[in-house]
Amino acid sequence: MIKKCAFCLLLLTTHACTGSNIQSYSDVEVLSVSVSILPQAYFVERVGGEHVAVNVMVGPGDEPHSYEPTPSQMRALTQSKVYFIIGVEFEKTWMPRFLAVSPDLHVVDTAAGIERMPMAAAYDGEAAGELDPHIWLSPALVKVQAQNIYDALVDADPAHTVDYHAGLESFLSDIDQLDASIRSTFSIIKINKFMTFHPAWGYFARDYGLAMIPIEIGGQEPSAEELARMIDLARQYDIRFIFTQKEFSSKSAEAIAEEIGAQVVLVDPLARDWLSNMQTLANAFARALGQ
Ligand code: ZN
Repeated sequence: MIKKCAFCLLLLTTHACTGSNIQSYSDVEVLSVSVSILPQAYFVERVGGEHVAVNVMVGPGDEPHSYEPTPSQMRALTQSKVYFIIGVEFEKTWMPRFLAVSPDLHVVDTAAGIERMPMAAAYDGEAAGELDPHIWLSPALVKVQAQNIYDALVDADPAHTVDYHAGLESFLSDIDQLDASIRSTFSIIKINKFMTFHPAWGYFARDYGLAMIPIEIGGQEPSAEELARMIDLARQYDIRFIFTQKEFSSKSAEAIAEEIGAQVVLVDPLARDWLSNMQTLANAFARALGQ
């Protein structure tokens, strides 16, 4: 099952083979791992540095709630020794199949120790019943995930413990700085309520004293009647910006925005370059809520 590339094997002792997904994991020079979403790839790379090669299942523009892997991704998965799950929906469906093709895959829950809250309620305060998977949008919770990733990397590859520890420390310190920077960015915020199509910002809102009003109801576009209620609510709260992301239709967000004269703001909660993206996101929220 394990494909070996002669060129990669040749170079394996001197450097990691880029430009190819194929690596020899029996030699464990570079630890091959898989993750579900792009921000996790950033987390693993920050802790693992040059000692890890990360395969991402949900690529740019894909939607982690309903994603289905391609055959080539399934093949890439067989190279991995570790799979870092985070709790996005597609894992529930696909993990048994991943384990069927890769029975030795070591599954690590990066959400271990994190108490997840119920999926953000619709406008009337009814919880949808599911637990909110968007834990990568909270710097505080990413610190927990980084620690879990560190523990797993040390477990899988104890020879590089010192480097993993240095990677962890540097990442944790960057997260602390990010958190301080977001707090200072948000000091200008005047309105704390915001509307968003997809309820990705529950933990982010909780961390920074904001209140999220999601448009999507139980993963669906709202009905005409629900949309009308949402428009009333948006008026009542004087909503001037509605956040959307490219993975979801912005039809209902645009309908509400047009009705109340608000602006639709496209944000990306799934960018790979997590640290700088979080500051970009904070700036977008501050611009919208600070006027
Ligand atoms: Zn989501």
